[in-house]
Formats: sequence, C-alpha cells, structure tokens
Amino acid sequence: MSNNRKVVVVGGGLAGLRAVETLRAEGFTGDIQLVSQEPHDPYTRPPLSKQLLSGEWEPDRSNLRSGEDLEALGFGFRASSAAAGVDFDRHQLTLDDGSVLDFDGLVIATGAQARSLPLLEGKPRVHLLRTLDDALMIRAELASANSVLVVGGGFIGAEVAATTRSIGKDVILVEPQETLLMRGLGRTLGAAIEGLQRENGVDVRTGVAIASVTKAGQRTRVTLDDGSVIDPDLIIVGIGATPNVDWLSGCDVSLDDGVVCDEFCRVLDASGEPVPGVVAAGDVARWRSLSQGRDVRVEHWTNAQEQGTAAARTLLTDIGELQEQLVPYDPTSYVWSDQFGKKIQVVGYLDGSETPHLVKGEDLTPPFLALMERNGLLVGAVGVASVPALVKARAFVDSGASLAEARAAFTDK
Ligand code: FAD
Repeated sequence: MSNNRKVVVVGGGLAGLRAVETLRAEGFTGDIQLVSQEPHDPYTRPPLSKQLLSGEWEPDRSNLRSGEDLEALGFGFRASSAAAGVDFDRHQLTLDDGSVLDFDGLVIATGAQARSLPLLEGKPRVHLLRTLDDALMIRAELASANSVLVVGGGFIGAEVAATTRSIGKDVILVEPQETLLMRGLGRTLGAAIEGLQRENGVDVRTGVAIASVTKAGQRTRVTLDDGSVIDPDLIIVGIGATPNVDWLSGCDVSLDDGVVCDEFCRVLDASGEPVPGVVAAGDVARWRSLSQGRDVRVEHWTNAQEQGTAAARTLLTDIGELQEQLVPYDPTSYVWSDQFGKKIQVVGYLDGSETPHLVKGEDLTPPFLALMERNGLLVGAVGVASVPALVKARAFVDSGASLAEARAAFTDK
C-alpha cells in the first residue's frame, strides 16, 4: 500500500474511532486525521445515562481506548475542532478555525445532537443529555437535587428516570404518547416498560404534555396540559436527537434526516450518485438497507461500531487501497437499554406497529421475550432480562425464519 494517501475522519465518537481502527487494521499506512468537536478522547455514550450519571463510574471509564492504544494507531487527533464545510471536487475539508485539510478519502461520522424543547430552552436547571460534559453537569446538580422531572419517555428518558430513581431521587417522567417507548416497541411492550418504571417508584405521566413553563427562583416550574403543576429541582429533557449535518449544507450531498448513502455507505450527491472517496457511518448516516428495501438511519451503539468498520472498508476499496468487492452493509438492527437492573434488548427494525407474541414469561412482567410480527412475518424480538432467549430469537430473525418456526423453537423444548 502507498503511504502518501490521506484520510480525514470527521467525528471523534464511536463510529469515527472504529473507522480509524479499521483503516489501520486493513493496513492503511497513510496519514489519518480525526477531527473531533469535543475536547475529550473518544468515549462511549451509553454509560452517560447509566453508571456515569449515577456516580458509579468516573469519566475515564467511558473512554473507548487508552491513551497508549490511541497513540499506537498513529493518527492526528484534532480535538475541539469542528468541520465547517467540504469541497468534494478539490477534496478539501475546512475547519471552523479556517484551516484546510486535503484528503483522498473522507469519513463522515458526526453523529447526532440532543433535540431541545423550545419551551424549556435556556431555562434554569434544565439539561439535555448527549455529551460527557452534559452528564457531568447533570451529575453535579443531582447532588443537591431531591426531585427530578424527566421529559420524554424514549430510551434515554426512561434510562435517566431509572438511574435517578435508583439513587434515591423523586422522579416524574412525562411522555405525551399513550405509553413509554411507543414508537419503538408499540403499545403493549411500551406499557410493560412503563410498569417496570412504576413498580420501582417512578411517577410516570403518559398522555400529557408540557403546556407552560415559568421561572421559580433558580428553578423552572412546569404546568402540564392536564393542569398539574410540577416544581422539580432539576429537569432533564430526552426527546430524541437530530443528525449533525448543518456543516454540510451548501455542499453537493444528499441530506434527508441524515447524510444519504447507498448500500455500501458511500455518500450520495444531490443527484443520487456516490461521491468518490466519501463514506458515512453511525448516527448521522441514512443508508440503503437491502433487506428492508428502504433507507434507514438508527441511533444505536452497535450500528455505530459496525458501520464505522464497514464504511472504512468501503472507503479503502473506493480509493484503491483495498482490492476487494464492495460488500453491502445490512445488519440486523440491535439496541439495548438498562433500567432497574433489567436488560431490555430489541432486535429488528421495529416501528411500534408490530404484534408481540410472548414466547417466554407468563405475562409482560420481566423476564419475558416476545417475537415481533408484522404482516405475518417475523421481523424482530424484544427481551427483558432474557439475554440467552434473545440470542436464540435473534438467530431466527437473522436467518429470515418464519414466525411459526421461531415459536416452535421456544415451545418444543
Ligand atoms: P456520536 O457518538 O454522536 O459522535 C459524533 C461526534 O462527532 C461527536 O463527538 C460530535 O461532537 C462530533 N461532531 C459533530 N459535528 C462535528 C463537526 N462538524 N466536526 C467535528 N466533529 C463533529 N445505544 C445503545 O444501543 N444502547 C444504549 O444503552 C445507549 N445509551 C445511550 C445513552 C446516551 C446518553 C446517548 C446519548 C446515546 C446512547 N446510545 C445507546 C446511542 C449510542 O451511544 C449512539 O448510537 C452512538 O454514540 C453513535 O455514535 P456516533 O459515533 O455515530 O456519533
């Protein structure tokens, strides 16, 4: 391999770091620059709503690699530095300080940012949770807080509620939809997670939204649209994330709730053609899933890890550094969440419209496992405190087995 080629990776999160590691693992000896907006070495986000928030872990434990391991990879790390624009024709990336990086290959791995609720923006003791600094700020404020209002009943909101409740806070969790996790798990399983939260003392309020907000001294008072008033010490908003693509506006690239890619993670231009030598991975990438027959974007740890690797391999092939056929990236989606000591695992691209078929457990009290059916087809599985059963169910989802086959495997012991 030549050693005068240059690859720039934008985004120092999981997908970006995995891309760097893969480039080196595949024998790329050229220059690699990792541009990262955050000041920290690459770290992993899941503990931010779990062990790090509770105080069980110190920040160093969330580092993805030790300092020596990072050094051994031999790349230029541009921390606290943001990409501001890119010229695909000239193969040049511009940073926010005006400096320009030339590249032969570019990996876009800028992730996503937490969505804010306009009513709560800039109000005292209101926080979003996306970064290590967010988590440390919330943790510091938790020390003097007795009551917490969590806004949003998706995975992040439910985890924050579980973690803060587990360290003894009075927690109210507000979600406008009918149950928690409606969009991902649907009504029945969402209600099961809601039951877990209530059983552990979280005051879950579903079907209500924030109507108005007032300043109450150094705190923020919230009135819900059912008329109830909440006066918490701290408010944490977890209402989803938006992909970090602003820096690409004005570039000839296809943007649609993320950077649009083909099935090989190659970034597409506005006319739908791959931009030579440019790939994307992780939360920011919307790619063509051949198995799903549509473009998908997910905000899950395992995807960021696997796609960082896949995109880097595509890139090396694209710029002629690897002599291999391009391989479509098409994994089974997987996400986990930890709440009150229970591992919740979800396999498959679920949208809440699926019908759960319980194959383990008597009712929806953990532990249980449900196979998920859409239009008569097995499309996924959801397990709570059922790791081995989930692994078994996943094999059926991966192999495209029928619902009947999978059900039989759980009943014929
Ligand atoms: P990110 O981790 O967002 O990294 C992107 C990086 O790029 C960031 O550092 C960002 O600052 C930087 N960046 C953005 N714009 C620019 C720019 N213009 N120039 C330079 N750098 C830029 N998933 C699970 O499956 N299970 C879990 O339990 C789980 N828990 C989570 C808990 C929390 C609190 C959060 C926030 C996420 C959690 N996730 C979980 C999701 C998972 O962490 C993400 O899917 C994963 O971090 C995505 O990695 P990424 O590298 O694509 O993006």
